[in-house]
Amino acid sequence: ENESTVSITVVGASGDLAKKKIFPALFALYYEDCLPKHFSIYGYARSKMTDAELRNMVSKTLTCRIDKRENCSEKMDQFLKRCFYHSGQYDSEENFAQLDKKLKKHEGGRVSNRLFYLSIPPNIFIEAVKCASSSASSGNGWTRVIVEKPFGRDSESSAVLTKSLKQYLTEDQIFRIDHYLGKELVENLSVLRFANLIFEPLWSRRYIRNVQIIFSEDFGTEGRGGYFDNYGIIRDIMQNHLLQILALFAMETPVSLDAEDIRNEKVKVLRSMRPLRLEDVVIGQYKSHSKGGVTYPSYTDDKTVPKDSLTPTFAAAALFIDNARWDGVPFLMKAGKALHNKGAEIRVQFRHMPGNLYNRNFGTDLDRATNELVIRVQPDEAIFLKINNKVPGLGMRLDRSNLNLHYAARYSKEIPDAYERLLLDAIEGERRLFIRSDELDAAWALFTPVLKELEEKKIIPESYPYGSRGPVGAHYLAARYNVRWGDLDIEQ
Ligand code: NAP
Repeated sequence: ENESTVSITVVGASGDLAKKKIFPALFALYYEDCLPKHFSIYGYARSKMTDAELRNMVSKTLTCRIDKRENCSEKMDQFLKRCFYHSGQYDSEENFAQLDKKLKKHEGGRVSNRLFYLSIPPNIFIEAVKCASSSASSGNGWTRVIVEKPFGRDSESSAVLTKSLKQYLTEDQIFRIDHYLGKELVENLSVLRFANLIFEPLWSRRYIRNVQIIFSEDFGTEGRGGYFDNYGIIRDIMQNHLLQILALFAMETPVSLDAEDIRNEKVKVLRSMRPLRLEDVVIGQYKSHSKGGVTYPSYTDDKTVPKDSLTPTFAAAALFIDNARWDGVPFLMKAGKALHNKGAEIRVQFRHMPGNLYNRNFGTDLDRATNELVIRVQPDEAIFLKINNKVPGLGMRLDRSNLNLHYAARYSKEIPDAYERLLLDAIEGERRLFIRSDELDAAWALFTPVLKELEEKKIIPESYPYGSRGPVGAHYLAARYNVRWGDLDIEQ
């Protein structure tokens, strides 16, 4: 293995994602000694830059973990020396051939493995893949391509994208990234379920009343709505991130932890899902709101958004998995921008205790006694279980308290960014956390009809004030299935 080398080319290196996530993640891997001995990193984009300018740009975004401050600047210098830049067009085989020459020089005759990270807008994916594969793929090692969302905007466009990618790459070479799958607590879902006897037997319609998967941001598009307006929150968050969480949450026990075994189970869940109906979806769009002397804008105040845009910035949906395990259990999703808080979490509400001796302690509102398992994916990662407990004292008063696994308190380590995990897996050829094409097809099949209907009927999103809890329609949707949304808990 010492005699092989990995070249990582960040296509679109001048962009936001490259600066914010990809280079810092590569540096973190370098610092943790996770990169192979022989590696080099290339930035590729149209912008004119020298190696020194790229290094300067990258250096501003690198950080060391709190517990690893020693040698930090020295490590950064060593890392930056292995970063290079090549300016070129995305549709030029000639420019990629020039890149190939430089890569070869650094590879110095060793077995060459090449990873391309496509961090560019989707309309140029195919050209870039075509040129990279024809003019800069490895002659004697592997060539892999990481593709970022969006993977199309409906079943048809996604199928076209997949077909075009497969003209130049095999499925094995395509690493479709959904960075939610690289998040520590999402990865931990399987451990929680399959390594704990106390959870797996409860994981079905028998004991679980509903599951909520919630994502919220406390800011709007703020001048960057151009991309978003063409997609909307359902495509941007639900069809991918939240649905991936759902699939991992609900899948049957895989035969092993191998990528194909896990992805087989995930695709089975997705294909067992009932097509989403319009009446099970609520959409919203945020409106201007003044609070404490500050006026927060409407979505359509964003200069990059058309004034008459009907794009949802909020959506809630009730989904069902028609298999034996989950028959009748509502899986509720909610995602929105410009809400009153930010975070992502999974909430599992268990059934009411039958014949509970203590029911009278909760009055008529049995929901107050619901056992609830909360997995807080971000921020401030935690897993907690709400249980009923006797308040200490001579009386008999009960309250709901948390059995709490708070990551910051339990583990002194800083949690790696999702991109670190995923880049490392791509380098190592581990496909478990990447989306296979049949999973992607199933995910689109679930959402495409309802997206079409929303657009064809020009359904007007319910407005909600910037900084609020979102449209009341989401509350009614949940109530129809006897569900009360949990609120992102900050309590410990
Ligand atoms: P970006 O900054 O808009 O674009 C990356 C680079 O692509 C730019 O620096 C530019 O480089 C080139 N580019 C931009 N528009 C172009 C055009 N119309 N034609 C040709 N080249 C163009 O994108 P990003 O925010 O870094 O995101 C990259 C990819 O990741 C996108 O597919 C995006 O959907 C996805 N993504 C981004 C985020 C995020 O947080 N930003 C999160 C998830 C997924 P040059 O002009 O130098 O060539």
